[in-house]
Amino acid sequence: MLAQDDNSKILIKMILIDGKKTAEDIKGEIAEQVKQMVADGKRAPHLAAVLVGHDGGSETYVAFKIKDCEEVGFRSSLVRFEDNVTEDELIAKVHELNNDPDLDGFIVQLPLPKHISEKRIIEAIDPRKDVDGFHPVNVGRLVLGIPTFLSATPYGIVELLKRYRIPTSGKNCVIVGRSNIVGRPLSILMSQKGVNATVTVAHSQTKDLEKVCAEADILIAALGSPEFITANMVKEGAVVIDVGTTRVNAPETKSGWRLKGDVKFDEVAPKCSYITPVPGGVGPMTRVSLLLNTLLAAKINR
Ligand code: NAP
Repeated sequence: MLAQDDNSKILIKMILIDGKKTAEDIKGEIAEQVKQMVADGKRAPHLAAVLVGHDGGSETYVAFKIKDCEEVGFRSSLVRFEDNVTEDELIAKVHELNNDPDLDGFIVQLPLPKHISEKRIIEAIDPRKDVDGFHPVNVGRLVLGIPTFLSATPYGIVELLKRYRIPTSGKNCVIVGRSNIVGRPLSILMSQKGVNATVTVAHSQTKDLEKVCAEADILIAALGSPEFITANMVKEGAVVIDVGTTRVNAPETKSGWRLKGDVKFDEVAPKCSYITPVPGGVGPMTRVSLLLNTLLAAKINR
């Protein structure tokens, strides 16, 4: 898309980053590797998902994960518990999965009911099977730059930048959001050797956020506030990655809702060199990163 500024002077060629297509390409590469493993007499990678309760969002995410496994030739298992499962029962299952030699990796779908400590559950997972990359050992390895399972969303974003050959070295990268699953690990990945961005992590206490964002060559919005990032917060020619996925009412749709990103796409896109859409940007890359981690687990654990 070619965009003109208000004075009809500057033309910016904006490239829409297609996360869906990139994820499909990666799935094709994974499927090839699985075929080769099986041809070599090894079993296909096996991922399990533990799902507690019947939260609509969690049910959907787990169903997607199982479908993704089927598409690339992985085995998958679903372990279900009702909402009233005790923490000890869940821990016992985690130990069982840790010790199952037929299983390469597993995830416990979050959030968990309030009476269960997510921290205790995550810490019970064997780091060698923690394909979500949430275990403190794996987070520590990430910080130290030791190869490990990377948290899926940051992994997917960095892979997307690489595959689109978007220069990151020496670039000023601003990440809005500092959660343990997105902003924080992403800030570490973006500043690592090889990626080499100069990173600022912004959050709810950041002063003059508009100015901070407007200085970014690469702006990554991960705050969960629909259309929060407006054109005045974006530098001409910036790369904008929208992580946000908030369900908003949409009576015209079959489901009654649709996903909104953190970026006001229509007004921001014309200023960008690259931008991800929502849906179809970061989401599919998050999903495929779990497959990449499971493939890695299958290779290193056997
Ligand atoms: P989270 O745990 O709620 O963290 C949100 C972060 O944004 C916090 O660090 C918070 O700051 C910051 N923040 C909130 N409002 C802000 C404001 N007005 N100005 C500046 N910073 C603000 O969220 P999350 O789990 O990281 O998820 C963020 C979004 O990404 C959500 O929409 C989520 O659904 C989406 N997501 C998408 C994918 C995907 O695959 N596409 C994956 C994961 C998450 P404080 O720390 O100061 O509170």
